[in-house]
Amino acid sequence: MVEADALFLDPDKRSVARYEQAMERAQAAVIEALVDRNDVYSGASPAELRATFEDIEPMPDEGEGIESALETVCETVLEHAVRFHDPKYLAHLNCAPGIPGIAADAIVAAMNQNHASWDLGPSVDVLEEAMIDELRRRFGYPDTAAGVFTSGGTQANFMGIFLARGWYADEHFDVDVQAEGLPRVAEDFRILRSAAGHPTIDEAAAKLGLGEQAVVDVPTDDQYRLDVEAAEAVLEELEADGRHPIALAATAGTTDFGSIDPLSELAELADEYDCWFHVDAAYGGAVAMSDRHRDMLAGIERADSLTVDFHKFLFQPVSCGAFLVRDEQMYQYLGHEAEYLNPERDSVPHRTEKSVQWSRRADVLKPFVTFRAVGREDVGAMIDRVIGLVDRVARCVGDDPDFDLINESELTTVVFRYCPTRTPEGMPARDWANQVNDRIREIALEEGETIVARTEHQGTTYLKFTILNPKTTVENVETVLDLIREYGDRAEQELASIK
Ligand SMILES: *Cc1c(COP(=O)(O)O)cnc(C)c1O
Repeated sequence: MVEADALFLDPDKRSVARYEQAMERAQAAVIEALVDRNDVYSGASPAELRATFEDIEPMPDEGEGIESALETVCETVLEHAVRFHDPKYLAHLNCAPGIPGIAADAIVAAMNQNHASWDLGPSVDVLEEAMIDELRRRFGYPDTAAGVFTSGGTQANFMGIFLARGWYADEHFDVDVQAEGLPRVAEDFRILRSAAGHPTIDEAAAKLGLGEQAVVDVPTDDQYRLDVEAAEAVLEELEADGRHPIALAATAGTTDFGSIDPLSELAELADEYDCWFHVDAAYGGAVAMSDRHRDMLAGIERADSLTVDFHKFLFQPVSCGAFLVRDEQMYQYLGHEAEYLNPERDSVPHRTEKSVQWSRRADVLKPFVTFRAVGREDVGAMIDRVIGLVDRVARCVGDDPDFDLINESELTTVVFRYCPTRTPEGMPARDWANQVNDRIREIALEEGETIVARTEHQGTTYLKFTILNPKTTVENVETVLDLIREYGDRAEQELASIK
């Protein structure tokens, strides 16, 4: 029982020393396996990774001790972890977390506060209130607004559509969905979203009993933004068909194209048709911190609810997101007792009334430590730097005959494809280019020198950079483009020999 006795923190000097040793060892493992490296991935295949766990029992009868267990983590997990700290990591919307956020996360774990009730974490409850209030101001909301930290955009979008459903059923049909369930007319509830919007809106509709059928894709303009005229046409058509558009879900920063829907015009439209206006700013909400770029979000202050992720473009470790609602009263549709209904308890915050989640870690500490350490202006400046870099990267890609650039994002994605040098006879050029680009992505993952994301648009396969790291330079991107060119050449040869 040696390890078990030493498992818990207590004032005993030996206990404190063990805690320090374990944390130091964990740090050393991170530095060794994640930081002192030059590739972004080991290149291991799923079969190779599974094989590493063939001889390693996740739940052995006898323990090996913390030192040894962390050693095992190094060899099995960290060795094959994706290295987001590498400035050559340019693939998905998952950032290199900054050091303040990492340190804060270690405290979050150690103090183990829980937002499920006041007496499980009073100081973090109040910190969360203060941070939500600050976000409210940043996004231009009135002081009627409220909100909560979430596990991310999925949960925040769910809450937006959840409140929209409750509000609409009450306001238009006098139905209390929480108590009575969905009215029959809910079959005709519709949610508008741009074709470039996020699938979590569809998921929310499905989980809320409306079905994915409730989500109507609105076409985008040539900048991949929700087309306002098209939205208006859809709204008219829905009403003519006796449907009920309950919500208009705009996106500020689409995952592929980084496009920001015309928020002010859409707010107007939502007003006119009396539907809930939700803005999914999981990605683009970050620019609210930037003095130079915050205007991109003009109109967001008119949203009934909004989503912002701190683990996307705000440099925090997963999970860390937030949900805001313009009018706290709308929380009545969450079905928990709302705070304003319980004035006698006003002195104590009830954070569960703001969330669909009960036990909830104090993720607010991560942005708190980051903003306190770095300052909001410098966080904004880091965002500006990445946006500035992406302009240069888009020019690099656009000027290069080996690549075809399809979109210059307002935010920090670059969507392009490698142009094959030759197309085999009898092969449609697009099919060939699709195969070659798909293969490039696979080769990159096998080699581990870089990872590229892939997306599809109108039947064509594209490669995608999502740049989130303020340390990334044009030279880093050029290195990756050279690798893609090399893999493209290899892919063409490989595929031609199979033909
Ligand atoms: C990432 C993302 C989501 C999903 O958020 P999670 O944090 O992964 O739960 C939703 N919408 C957009 C636009 C996103 O980029």
